[in-house]
Amino acid sequence: EQGRPKAPVPTDRPAHVRRVLAIASGKGGVGKSTVAVNLACALSARGLSVGILDADVYGPSLPTMLGLSGKPGYEDGAMVPHEAHGLKAMSVGLLTQATDAMVWRGPMASQAITQMLTQTRWGTSEAPLDVLVVDLPPGTGDVQLTLIQKTPLDGVVIVSTPQEVALADARRAHTLFEKVGVPTLGLIENMSGDIFGRGGARAEAERLGVAFLGELPLDASLREGGDAGRPTTLAVPEGVVARCFAAVAARV
Ligand code: ADP
Repeated sequence: EQGRPKAPVPTDRPAHVRRVLAIASGKGGVGKSTVAVNLACALSARGLSVGILDADVYGPSLPTMLGLSGKPGYEDGAMVPHEAHGLKAMSVGLLTQATDAMVWRGPMASQAITQMLTQTRWGTSEAPLDVLVVDLPPGTGDVQLTLIQKTPLDGVVIVSTPQEVALADARRAHTLFEKVGVPTLGLIENMSGDIFGRGGARAEAERLGVAFLGELPLDASLREGGDAGRPTTLAVPEGVVARCFAAVAARV
């Protein structure tokens, strides 16, 4: 078909990682990283071995949200991820100045992410990682397209706030993933409540024919935990955790 991106040929599967789960959003600031970190912790609390890769070149949040600092170690030709809150963690923000990453062009960003994916010791043959959560950059531009075509993603969860302007971008994100053959596991509504409204993401999920995974209300403890590097496993709705857990379990 004309104009359709080619099916992805992700040759860069990370070694000893059973499943790669992406967290995406159409817009920045909707809570994508917050969901990624807290979902990773919730999956870990269920007994899975979990890693998290912060691929958000525009604004890497993981160092703050998990309280990480310092470059990763290097051993036998591989980067050694940080360990925090039971997670193995790597962030584009630990490899470079955040201000550098922001001005990366598509190929550079994608090369850096590929390196972090494939040259990090996420797991070993004796102890493979059950799931690697990838916090993608927001939006549907060239950087994202290159990234998702190159990264071997098994599924994506899309985070949106309830307003129409955010949902329109979430829809575009879903379309982009659909085109490259990455299944959308579902939509999650963040900052649900009085100010932004409620229910928009559920209705959008119905229109798109994808699962609605649940709502996270505006909650000061989520913001405080994010700022202080203290994620909370209680913040992500049980339905979201259960569905992601099932997707991982189906593969393992
Ligand atoms: P994104 O990754 O989409 O850019 P973040 O996860 O960095 O968004 O969230 C942006 C800001 O909003 C952060 O300060 C975060 O702590 C806060 N935040 C996200 N979700 C919530 C929520 N449900 N309630 C309160 N604050 C939130």
